Amino acid sequence: MGAVLIDGKQIAANCRNATAEAAAKFNAEFGVTGHLAAVLVGDDPASQVYVRNKERACEKAGLRSTLHRLSESTSQTELLELVQTLNQDSSVHGILVQLPLPAHLNATEILDAITPLKDVDAFHPENVGLLLQGRPRFLPCTPAGVMKMLEVSGTETVGKRAVVVGRSDIVGKPMAALLLQRGADATVTVCHSRSQDIAEHCRSADLLVAAVGIPEFIKGDWIRPGSVVIDVGINRVEDRLVGDVEFAAAAERAAAITPVPGGVGPMTIAMLLENTLHAARLQLQ
Ligand code: NDP
Repeated sequence: MGAVLIDGKQIAANCRNATAEAAAKFNAEFGVTGHLAAVLVGDDPASQVYVRNKERACEKAGLRSTLHRLSESTSQTELLELVQTLNQDSSVHGILVQLPLPAHLNATEILDAITPLKDVDAFHPENVGLLLQGRPRFLPCTPAGVMKMLEVSGTETVGKRAVVVGRSDIVGKPMAALLLQRGADATVTVCHSRSQDIAEHCRSADLLVAAVGIPEFIKGDWIRPGSVVIDVGINRVEDRLVGDVEFAAAAERAAAITPVPGGVGPMTIAMLLENTLHAARLQLQ
């Protein structure tokens, strides 16, 4: 393997430690503990693991977390009522509704109901708008985690050709927005399922971010030699997790690459902790 490994586990641990220190200072100064309320509807096993990991990370960082577990048959009205209660609870600073929600629920309406000041996932249209205007209130967790990895690994983005594969509201679109914003200043191309010549776009990339959700979709020979490859994908194949990039072949050509697992995944939770503390600060003002 020629590429340097960008160690998300280590970078995330450093971020969590920094948040823990900041949370302790904040508590000492204002007597307030940052508090994340997580809402889990139904019993999807992967969602349960994600929520548990988020709770544990909060506690380790000296933040409070409360889990609201609702049954699979919860109605839209009941869930909206819980969100309103959490919006009004001044002891709660961040609200996270774990996705995906059961199919009978309208996720957009639920996410829109979270008050923007407590929207630590940065999904609310007001927060998305602020991000696009270059004055973010919260940074969306996964793309913010990627930006942090680029910063820590010393990856230059200014004037570079960045290709993002995937245009979801959670990863691809906000990732493109962050790379485009002043300061990051990349020249950004976004590919999706209707794009043509994706391999050629990838071959032009100084920085490639893969967020497709298809195991090893990005082939090793699509990687521009000397480029930086960030693999956001987490796909379960039989009993192991693989990314969206053909890792071994890509690592022969890239200058730096993130592994799966141990790459972007841990960063997402680390950024959620930062956002929770940031939300607590915002609510003191
Ligand atoms: P979505 O399914 O919401 O979006 C996938 C995107 O990939 C869509 O924009 C889709 O295009 C595009 N796509 C699908 N098939 C193709 C194709 N054949 N060619 C080109 N583009 C294609 O997924 P997410 O963005 O939520 O997640 C992407 C991956 O990242 C998943 O593996 C997920 O598990 C992982 N993930 C990891 C996180 C982490 O913390 N590391 C956090 C969130 C996600 P179109 O819009 O045209 O349909």
